[in-house]
Amino acid sequence: MGAGLFGAAFAQQVRAAGKSVLVIDRRSHIGGNVYTEEIEGIQVHRYGAHIFHTNDRSVWEYVNRFAEFNRYTNAPVANYRGELYSLPFNMYTFNKLWGVVTPREAEAKIREQREAAGITEPKNLEEQAISLVGTDIYERLIKGYTEKQWGRPCSELPSFIIKRLPVRFTFDNNYFNARYQGIPVGGYTRMVERMLDGVEVRLNVDYLQHKAELDALADRVVYTGSVDAYFDDCYGPLSYRSVRFETEVLDTPNFQGNAVVNYTDRETPFTRIIEHKFFEFGTQPKTVISREYSAEWRPGMEPYYPVNDEKNSALYEQYKALADRERKTVFGGRLGEYRYYDMDAVLLSALQLAEKELGKEGEQA
Ligand code: UDP
Repeated sequence: MGAGLFGAAFAQQVRAAGKSVLVIDRRSHIGGNVYTEEIEGIQVHRYGAHIFHTNDRSVWEYVNRFAEFNRYTNAPVANYRGELYSLPFNMYTFNKLWGVVTPREAEAKIREQREAAGITEPKNLEEQAISLVGTDIYERLIKGYTEKQWGRPCSELPSFIIKRLPVRFTFDNNYFNARYQGIPVGGYTRMVERMLDGVEVRLNVDYLQHKAELDALADRVVYTGSVDAYFDDCYGPLSYRSVRFETEVLDTPNFQGNAVVNYTDRETPFTRIIEHKFFEFGTQPKTVISREYSAEWRPGMEPYYPVNDEKNSALYEQYKALADRERKTVFGGRLGEYRYYDMDAVLLSALQLAEKELGKEGEQA
């Protein structure tokens, strides 16, 4: 398995149970997409911003064994053609947009727009968004961003994607409805390093290229790469979205005043700008920013997001049937299970798999 969050948690558990385990990653570093690298004294999230949040106490306690978490609370700002709005959608957003002051006025406005659109049972992301927040917010804060992010019209995307964002009739800018939230002080790489303490890790090794010899070393294999690549794309490739990061060091202490600013209009070519220092309340003299450009994944690029639309979900089911038939290998993580997993869900799934696998061994012994 790879050295991302899924592989690291699984390996940590197996090692803690006194079994031997080998982690293999084709990249030159551990951490997978949560990898952070220090630049100008700032922890830079090299593969996109990762904000840890969970409602699951056991997962929260688990990660706190390997890192201290700060009190960062994600509160992105949306920039639509130069106008700023609060995210997620809340009373500040409604006030800026419509001048409404009370929750009741905001609810009435949304109801009016939902009824005018005539949506009763939302069937896709567009209908879901309009029925949740009305057409104004959909047009300014959702449509452009989502179509840039996914490269598909909102009417062809699954509605669950938009349900990730809370809608609140309170003055609360917290992006997540999670009991626990924060960023590991000193970066994710250090956290994963601690998880992998005592575990043998081989970097710069492509598992699929050395599959036979590596498989021969193990009784069980956990595969965390893309499930379609494992089966040589035999049913055709699954779609993924990739992200290109344009990272810059700027000679100013404060570029945008927030860790995350989303550019929700269609004209701005990037989806968001991350100013990494603000994840840790940094006071460094310089700053590091990353512009994120979303793109359809092609061979040679890094896959980030599975595209869980109808076509790809059906295709994934075919691969899943093959995966279930593998005797020695189990599939895990965002790529192995083709799921839009958050970090806490990835960890929970890895911990559960480890428990299951270790339990099996106990039965056999
Ligand atoms: N989204 C949006 N406008 C925003 C932020 C998000 O329309 O300003 C939509 C978009 O479709 C996105 C989804 O909400 O893909 C989920 O957003 P989230 O921030 O959870 O995405 P991630 O951080 O995982 O890329």
